[in-house]
Amino acid sequence: MIDLNTYLRNFPDSNGYFGEYGGAILPEALVPAFKEVSDAYQTICHSAQFINELRRIRKQFQGRPTPVYHCERLSQKLGACQIYLKREDLNHTGAHKLNHCMGEGLLAKYMGKKKLIAETGAGQHGVALATAAAFFGLECEIHMGAVDIAKQAPNVTRMKILGANVVPVTHGLQTLKEAVDSAFQSYLKDYKDSIYCIGSVLGPHPFPVMVRDFQMCIGVEAREQFLEMTGLLPDAICASVGGGSNAMGLFTAFLGDPVDIYGVEPLGKGPTLGDHSASLTYGKKGMMHGFESIMLTDENGEPAPVHSIASGLDYPSVGPEHAYLRDINRVKYATASDKEAVDAFFKLSRYEGIIPALESSHAIAYAMKLAKEMKTGSILVNCSGRGDKDVDYVVENYGFGEEYAF
Ligand SMILES: *Cc1c(COP(=O)(O)O)cnc(C)c1O
Repeated sequence: MIDLNTYLRNFPDSNGYFGEYGGAILPEALVPAFKEVSDAYQTICHSAQFINELRRIRKQFQGRPTPVYHCERLSQKLGACQIYLKREDLNHTGAHKLNHCMGEGLLAKYMGKKKLIAETGAGQHGVALATAAAFFGLECEIHMGAVDIAKQAPNVTRMKILGANVVPVTHGLQTLKEAVDSAFQSYLKDYKDSIYCIGSVLGPHPFPVMVRDFQMCIGVEAREQFLEMTGLLPDAICASVGGGSNAMGLFTAFLGDPVDIYGVEPLGKGPTLGDHSASLTYGKKGMMHGFESIMLTDENGEPAPVHSIASGLDYPSVGPEHAYLRDINRVKYATASDKEAVDAFFKLSRYEGIIPALESSHAIAYAMKLAKEMKTGSILVNCSGRGDKDVDYVVENYGFGEEYAF
């Protein structure tokens, strides 16, 4: 266990490092842009006006606090251990991502910026950011690989309805990596008037700490709600880890408590490089996209190809704070496979009436396994998003899931 206040005061250090992970490793031309964001955030995050405005937005626009829900039927099927969900699927737009997009949008507004720039892979971050831009009356420019644009048509449509300019990236493999390069180039040209909004606890400092802070409402709310419901803290908490933002959002408030914490990485089709995106489980230390962390790389040190059934989890690295929390043994990292995630997707739907996102299904799958092992006690799981976006894919590939009944 650690003392939470001491931890939050000391990490990250002034250069953005959590132990040996993090930092801001940038081309010369972008150093002032990120420094400007970092300095602005340092000031603004202590401003009562900023905090109160964000609170008002969370309540009135996002519909927070989201509830904590006791999965009585699912728990009973597994034994005596009780599973609870933090319902981020009920956050406006259907996932936790809006928590940091609204924070980034408000920061942009305070900094006098006119435009939000980002890349998106599956389109989830793009939709959340386009929502924030519409709310704040800012322009929004989303860079997206042409291959992803074709694959994720409904999210592209949503972004456009919300008023975003979706920029197709047509070089290289035309997916996320090229979209990152394209978004950075656009930012470089225009950083006086715009802000680059990263979609997880990743990228150069200050994004890992800033996105973590914006997501912290998940755990702060859940801890209070769980105490009120049960009179106790949960014995264990868990969340899926792609870049790691919904997980840090839940975990941070519990770091100082006697609670076991589990991050669940996507094992995909199995442990062979290319078949999964379990960066902490199988990766090693490296540098990409402007920060140091644990990552999956090929023999040339380039980002390795990754796979997960959940498109929001297939990133070849992980937020630097997760790497540090693993090193100091405060958080344990486990995996769930595509198949286990699909099983959890159907079970939560059938036994609780909640269709979870395939990303969240990884955390639910691991919680189900853990519940059987623990036999008693309680587990609080972050249901990071709703599964409407996944139903067509799941049914096409797995039918209606009759064989996943208990
Ligand atoms: C994007 C996404 C994730 C993964 O991102 P993190 O930064 O690891 O939280 C998880 N769940 C949902 C619903 C998502 O959209």
